[in-house]
Amino acid sequence: MKKIVVAGAGGFIGGHLVKELVKKGNRVRAVDLKPLNEWYQVSDEADNLMLDLRLRENCYRAVNGYNEVFNLAADMGGMGFIENNKAACMISVLINTHLLLASKDCGIDRFFYASSACVYNGDKQTDPHNPGLKESDAYPALAEDGYGWEKLFSERMCRHFREDFGLTTRVARFHNVYGPYGTFDGGREKAPAAISRKVIEAGITGKKEIVIWGDGLQTRSFMYIDDCIKGIQDIMYSNIEEPLNLGSSEMVSINQLVDIVEDIAGYKLNRIYDLKAPKGVRGRNSENTLIKKYLGWEPSIPLRKGMKKTYDWISEQVVDETRRKKGTNRFNK
Ligand code: NAD
Repeated sequence: MKKIVVAGAGGFIGGHLVKELVKKGNRVRAVDLKPLNEWYQVSDEADNLMLDLRLRENCYRAVNGYNEVFNLAADMGGMGFIENNKAACMISVLINTHLLLASKDCGIDRFFYASSACVYNGDKQTDPHNPGLKESDAYPALAEDGYGWEKLFSERMCRHFREDFGLTTRVARFHNVYGPYGTFDGGREKAPAAISRKVIEAGITGKKEIVIWGDGLQTRSFMYIDDCIKGIQDIMYSNIEEPLNLGSSEMVSINQLVDIVEDIAGYKLNRIYDLKAPKGVRGRNSENTLIKKYLGWEPSIPLRKGMKKTYDWISEQVVDETRRKKGTNRFNK
């Protein structure tokens, strides 16, 4: 049994990871800034703590006496959030910096950092037919402003703590993760959840239209949460020292993603394209040669299959909320 700290445990990916690590018999300390009643998932078997990990002393409190740290804590969201909150995204640098310092001083054996495809050079993402971003495409650096630069800097920090202080660090660059128990409204949601929610709401209200950010031709790949949780653990316990892509290589346009959601819902909507909305890079995909070489595996859960589970969960949340707030809910007030 290992003693493992998960930072950002109240969030989407952190909640799933805590569940999995607890299930495997580990002693887990789950830490998040949010009050417990706002966590997506709470594992009663874990030691659940509410701490602001931007503060140095809280990071020491969080990791002291434990063996391993997974850092998934960050102030983040989809394009709508990161394009309008660049300073807030960059302040997450304090979380990783203080967690690394505390991990070094408290004798942590292994440290995992959740990086992002937003570290990649923007000039390599101007074509919707993106051949896939190789790990080396992060340099020369031209990361996503704000959020991406913070991720790139924190990756380097992991590398130098490993080289200079001997702390074992592992870094994965996640490409859009989706699934149940994550953000689906409020402004931080990402495309799979946002599109599912809009289609579900249209079904409830009888609205015949859906607003899509951009022209719908921009491309992305999306990784289902189960693949992400497997990949995080496989990378953490590997001997791969350099940042590794952790993403699906099933690239689709946003229009194709809407097609999938409409197919699940069983109805079609008129598409209105909001060309002024935040839309991010033109084309992005994960190039998986390295992960296949090192781990003999790559994320492979088909988008259609993962979206069905995600859609069903979001549908339950939206319908529950509608029932709970009957009379004053967002559909009939
Ligand atoms: P999330 O927003 O659901 O979870 C992040 C959690 O960190 C939140 O619960 C938040 O309250 C917590 N947090 C923020 N500031 C904190 C602080 N000061 N102290 C303690 N906790 C704090 O996001 P997620 O989708 O679960 O992402 C997890 C990690 O993976 C993040 O580092 C994110 O940047 C990275 N990532 C996610 C995706 C994705 O598609 N979801 C893609 C690339 C990278």
